[in-house]
Amino acid sequence: MPEMPEVETVRRGLIDQVKGKRITDIEIRYQNLITGDVNEFVETVKNSVIEDIGRRAKFLLIHLDNGYTIISHLRMEGKYKVSSDVNAIDKHSHAIFSLDDGQMLIYNDVRKFGRMQLWPTDRLFENKSLKKLGPEPLSDEFTFENIKPRVIKHRKDIKTVLLDQSVMSGLGNIYVDEVLWQAKIHPETPANHLTDEDIKIIIKHANDEIRLAIQSGGSTVRSYLDANGHKGNMQDRLQVYGKEGLPCPRCQTTIEKIKVGGRGTHFCPHCQVVK
Ligand SMILES: [Zn+2]
Repeated sequence: MPEMPEVETVRRGLIDQVKGKRITDIEIRYQNLITGDVNEFVETVKNSVIEDIGRRAKFLLIHLDNGYTIISHLRMEGKYKVSSDVNAIDKHSHAIFSLDDGQMLIYNDVRKFGRMQLWPTDRLFENKSLKKLGPEPLSDEFTFENIKPRVIKHRKDIKTVLLDQSVMSGLGNIYVDEVLWQAKIHPETPANHLTDEDIKIIIKHANDEIRLAIQSGGSTVRSYLDANGHKGNMQDRLQVYGKEGLPCPRCQTTIEKIKVGGRGTHFCPHCQVVK
């Protein structure tokens, strides 16, 4: 699944290629891709100009000049590509936006889990999917004052709590493992046992990890490519994720993989202690 840094990489790639272009036609080949009425989606989007592309956590926000935004969630395998070649369209191309410069913005999704929804731009904060999202790293809201109460109200393990997008958004399985390793906190530590210092360290490393991941263009742990077809290289910088059986880069103890809250979890049993 693309994580937030990968979606940010896609956003930056798409801005370069489609910002300011008019959508002259749309073909929806998989009706369930659209949440809501497909004809209404097509009629509203047609002839609008892509003003900008934003992002909230893992949602791409394609802002149109007619007051509407396409909220696009890539889920497991959704990808965008921009091409003028009809051969770029295949059986996994579920939405094709024709642009006024002769290019096409093509949405591909092998697993068909991705969704698009049209929503008034000035009421995005009312959207059910967006409004439940907690603060995300590198944003103004990602402060100790905002994060602490959201974390310590839980008695569950900190791994599960950090994955909960209503606590903080944008950290998926890979980056939670990396952040907890950086912070030297065992993934099974009950969230309400964390000290103020622990929370500050988690916030610092969440910001650092996401900044680094965005700079690296995301990771290709799964079959992820950005909108330009480039692979990210974040996977070369991971310290614990996927490194079970290898020495911890900090203390040389063998990294273990366990299940926490049903998710594969990588950690160092020496430097990450339960609090
Ligand atoms: Zn270690």
